[in-house]
Amino acid sequence: MSERVLDIKGLHAGYDGVAVVRDLDLYVEGGEVVAFLGPNGAGKTTTLMAVSGMVQILDGSITVLGRAVPKLRQAHLLARWGVSHVPENRGILFQLSVEENLQLANRGGRTDVTPAIDYFPALGDLLKRQAGLLSGGEQQMLAIGRAILCKPKFLMIDEMSLGLAPVIYEELMPIVRRIADDTGAGVLLVEQHADLALAQSDRAYVLNHGDLVMQGTAEELIRDRHLLDATYLGGETLEEEPLR
Ligand code: ATP
Repeated sequence: MSERVLDIKGLHAGYDGVAVVRDLDLYVEGGEVVAFLGPNGAGKTTTLMAVSGMVQILDGSITVLGRAVPKLRQAHLLARWGVSHVPENRGILFQLSVEENLQLANRGGRTDVTPAIDYFPALGDLLKRQAGLLSGGEQQMLAIGRAILCKPKFLMIDEMSLGLAPVIYEELMPIVRRIADDTGAGVLLVEQHADLALAQSDRAYVLNHGDLVMQGTAEELIRDRHLLDATYLGGETLEEEPLR
């Protein structure tokens, strides 16, 4: 059996002592792509921030790569443990070049940027370009490219599709799948576009208003679309969701 790279048990997390995520159980194994779905404001980003040590754990536990995340915020620990977190804003330094952003993956040391270019060949032609001038899709490639240069065993990607044309997201998703397959890293992928995420995921969790309302294999969630529609989209069908 694969190692659990993330194991969340009974998590309550939030702001100023008020939980916006309640009693969450969730795990990710090495080599898995797990979709973390739910509408705006459900608490998905808050969960990732709690895992990264940026939001306080009010109750329950988070174990990453076999180590307990401290209840008090300590964001610096996670990178040392082999965790990469691509945040919603992508964490890119716009004034720096693509190459300089990639170099930042390995603070203080020389970074071989080849693995990032192997997964995202388009970055190879853009190395000298100022990151702020990249398209949304190119910025997302840069953010994920930089994350994989840290050789993570566990990778969190928050809302990869944000601001991207669905056709770009459709191109990026199989690469995320390939990263998990090639490197054995576990991937937790926050996403609002259920259809596109489920197509490349092994399992999925659905959060709504801070509560876990569904979980299962991607196949099960695709098969039970009516349940997913009812819990996640409030009755709107996925087919009606505008994807293009
Ligand atoms: P989205 O896709 O919109 O980011 P989400 O599922 O990631 O949605 P969160 O961003 O985790 O949801 O937000 C969950 C709840 O926590 C929301 O009600 C939000 O208003 C609240 N929240 C988020 N950040 C803060 C903060 N810094 N202080 C107080 N409340 C916050």
